Amino acid sequence: MISIALIGSTGSIGRQVCSVVGRYPDKFRFSALVARGNREVFLSQVSRFRPRRAVLTQEGSFAGMPSAIDGVLFSEGEENALECIEDCDVAFVAASGFAGLKYSLKAIACGKRLALANKETLVCGGGLVMREAARRGIDLVPVDSEHSALWQALHFDRRAPFEQLILTASGGPFYGKSKAELAAVTVRDTLRHPTWQMGAKITVDSATLLNKGFEVIEAKWLYDAPFSKIRTVVQPTSIVHSMVAFADGSVLAQMSYPTMEVPIQLALTYPDRLPSGLQIPDFAALGEIRFLPLERKAFPCYDLALTAGEMGDGYPCALNGAGEAAVHAFLRGQIGFTRIAEVIEEVLSRTPRVRADDYESLCEIDRRARGEAVKIIGNGV
Ligand code: NDP
Ligand code: MG
Repeated sequence: MISIALIGSTGSIGRQVCSVVGRYPDKFRFSALVARGNREVFLSQVSRFRPRRAVLTQEGSFAGMPSAIDGVLFSEGEENALECIEDCDVAFVAASGFAGLKYSLKAIACGKRLALANKETLVCGGGLVMREAARRGIDLVPVDSEHSALWQALHFDRRAPFEQLILTASGGPFYGKSKAELAAVTVRDTLRHPTWQMGAKITVDSATLLNKGFEVIEAKWLYDAPFSKIRTVVQPTSIVHSMVAFADGSVLAQMSYPTMEVPIQLALTYPDRLPSGLQIPDFAALGEIRFLPLERKAFPCYDLALTAGEMGDGYPCALNGAGEAAVHAFLRGQIGFTRIAEVIEEVLSRTPRVRADDYESLCEIDRRARGEAVKIIGNGV
């Protein structure tokens, strides 16, 4: 029986982790469930899975409730959430945003297997995280569908040799639109992703292609790949989740209908593959699997991410902080879609080179980038 501390249980990934664990109650159980403040969904998960600990990080979330019910200990705040990681076999980090980094670092410090969905962990803290994970001999398992696909094509060995990593992108809801058309898109249009159901932040990032840029940075860290060996291609139906090319010119692709449940389940069961309820693709019915070039001009966030990745040090962390502030402003209706890239670019140009070797420096870079973004958005410059 493997015990899992799930951080971010009420989110899009978290709910799918619950679905996988519910499918195999004889193999997995939750030692802890953690979310931020969505009390209603959280309490229904707690009553179904009965973890030993249940934590909402927002203070006051359990107001009026007893501190323990039927053997489940309830508590609030990030300190308690972090403490849950001390007592599990696998830390499944599915919280959103920069906040995910501290949970990943805690899992590494505690020597736990880390099932990593949270992107910001490697985008912001890749150098620190990979160094500490190597030092502690941590089993760091990718969950994002592209990175799971690469890992599968590399036979679950992130250090295996390859010639090229080829990430696929759906292209998002706006593939083919001109810059002028993009200036007029709404929040509603942006949240209508063609192939994936995800949280709001990553859905917007998929539309701007910032998400794909993040995935290039993550690939660099996970597979120790120079940027020159990482490519991106559009595959509009999200059947091919990514590919690895080898020295002999052959390419292995990982395919399935799009669902996060397969990479989530595999992160918990590998090297075994268990039934997931997913149908095998009907290739004759699919007819064709098309590949198209990425449109970099209309979607500058992709190149901004690559530039920040190549500049290294604190720049990817500043990129993320600026992106989080800009996307939240977009979702609140404060700025338009094309302003997201402009805000990020402006923040990066105002960011001095700062080394990002420890968690405190990363927090400072993140805080500064958000502050700059808020100023830029407020001033309208
Ligand atoms: P959601 O917004 O749907 O969910 C976020 C989850 O994190 C919620 O449970 C939220 O709690 C919780 N949370 C937020 N802040 C904190 C905090 N400080 N401490 C603990 N929990 C917190 O996001 P997604 O599930 O879409 O994405 C989660 C992560 O996985 C992101 O980094 C994303 O980039 C990555 N990812 C997502 C994919 C997807 O298909 N959705 C695919 C690949 C990667 P509450 O609901 O209570 O606010
Ligand atoms: Mg992805």
